[in-house]
Amino acid sequence: MVWGIENSRELYGLKGVLNNQLFDINEKGELVVKIKGKALSIAELLKKYGLPGANIRILPWIGEMIDYIAGLFLKSIKEKNYRGSFRPVYPLKVNHHELVLKSIKKYGEKYSWGWEAGTLPELYKALSIKTDGLLVVDGVKDARGLKRIAENKEAYGEAIIDIESIREARLLEEIRKHIGDKIWIGFRIRPMFRGESIWSSSSGLSSKFGLPLSSIYKIIEKQPWIKNKVIMLHFHYGSQIVARDALKKMFTEMINTYTVLKEKYLPNLRYIDTGGGLAFDYESTLSGSLYSPDYTFREYVETMLKIFKEHIEEHGILPPDIVFESGRAIVAPHRISVAKVIDIRPYISESRTEIELVEKIHSSKTIKELSEIARESENIINRLLSFTENIDMKRRELLEGMIEAIYEEIPKKAKEIYMMDRNNALKELAENTRTGRPLYRYLTSPSRRYVLSFSLFNILPDNVILNQYFQVIPCSMLDRRPDVLATISDITCDSMGEVSEFISKLPEGFDDIFTEEDNRLLGIPGKRVILRGIPLHLPRENEEYYVAFLHTGAYQDPLAMGHNMLEGYPEIIIDENSDNELIIRYDDNAKDHYPQ
Ligand SMILES: *Cc1c(COP(=O)(O)O)cnc(C)c1O
Repeated sequence: MVWGIENSRELYGLKGVLNNQLFDINEKGELVVKIKGKALSIAELLKKYGLPGANIRILPWIGEMIDYIAGLFLKSIKEKNYRGSFRPVYPLKVNHHELVLKSIKKYGEKYSWGWEAGTLPELYKALSIKTDGLLVVDGVKDARGLKRIAENKEAYGEAIIDIESIREARLLEEIRKHIGDKIWIGFRIRPMFRGESIWSSSSGLSSKFGLPLSSIYKIIEKQPWIKNKVIMLHFHYGSQIVARDALKKMFTEMINTYTVLKEKYLPNLRYIDTGGGLAFDYESTLSGSLYSPDYTFREYVETMLKIFKEHIEEHGILPPDIVFESGRAIVAPHRISVAKVIDIRPYISESRTEIELVEKIHSSKTIKELSEIARESENIINRLLSFTENIDMKRRELLEGMIEAIYEEIPKKAKEIYMMDRNNALKELAENTRTGRPLYRYLTSPSRRYVLSFSLFNILPDNVILNQYFQVIPCSMLDRRPDVLATISDITCDSMGEVSEFISKLPEGFDDIFTEEDNRLLGIPGKRVILRGIPLHLPRENEEYYVAFLHTGAYQDPLAMGHNMLEGYPEIIIDENSDNELIIRYDDNAKDHYPQ
């Protein structure tokens, strides 16, 4: 079997619709980013600037995502002859990095992209970057904030102040005379439907956000003037809604609520703010897991428009304009985080102890038999590990070596059996993935610990907080079969600074399914499986080997933690000038804090 870069594209998930547009592997086996018809090697950039690691920020990609998603809306609106318009806003919460905001403004201008602010500093920031689009004001408000909106009418096309409580409705009295003159009112609705997502507590009857219906009635009863100034209903069901079924329910609830409230109580409604929630496929598998939606961006847009359109025709009402408020999908791809491997350590031990069990492993003829032995080995290991309080050094060494021997031999034998009779072995291997059986644990366990020069807390805080999955891929040697499965460790003194999970979804017919050196499994063709180590290469002598985490552009900048005094990270910024030429800058911010 000869490993080629096509194998790496499949293993590391570069074949999905989006990744296919953004990334590739060059003939040297290096990961490249595709920008404006150019292909830049990430490893080369890092080497050129002599960096231990960096966040690479590709600003033109923000433009590509904006064009892509706006394009889907505009096309679908036209095709369906939907007579409402597309009114996008960018929620600052997702990433307020100066360059990100600048890029949203630059690339979003032609669609009149506006802003959504959820706190006072976000509001002040949004007012400082002019838009002729919308300014949607969420969050807990005060009189000062509302006055700032009234004093800065040149900063936006229309401002819509979302009311979330009776107190906030009362606050409106402070700026009442301005309301109706570029400044309007929205009601944030507490959504009933609750989907399955990490952030689904943003919806449901007891959600932190939004008004229950009873409060809406109370507000318009106490302050009747408000009734005619409410132009928008705002819905946000939580970020990263991954199920297509959930989308249907959400959009149906939105348009139903809109219709009823418009007909009965709020005659001037003309916008539905559909909130965030457009999920990003962090796995590139479209699998419907927490970090991978089972729908595409196109399906999201088409589902929304179809449901709105049908409902409107049925009820004979004017179609609302659609306020699109997603941020994650727009900015996630623009940042890639790369770190250099600075040490490779054994996962268990450097040496092995020869034991009888190894003979037994060798004698097995089928995956089934091996699976039995794996179970037996696991019991033995567990028993031995339960008597370690008073263990002397000699016995400890033997024990380490025994475990190492078992972890080496079981995968080696599995690979041998597979090479002799692929079809049967594959069937039995697939069987073993089902219930987390011991054999599967051995075959997908790491054999090395790679220490990378970065802080997980600083670069991927959501991996620490939520165990969020980010795709990982080596930046070079991709023309070669991975040598090992490895755990990635960061340089903090915290055991949580570790990444081991790798989601593999090899296509049918992919038959090169074992690593070169430690004989671990790379996946099961046709199945989505979770490996407990990342497929990586053993770098050649003096080779600088970098590993990239993809799609880290949403939320990770603002949530970055300064654990262990590791704040900041070098940056490589890729931008374009007005002649569409690429400009590359770097900032060696905090470079000396990371081991070289
Ligand atoms: C967080 C948030 C968003 C952004 O959601 P994404 O799913 O990240 O796009 C949009 N609107 C509101 C009100 C939010 O709180």
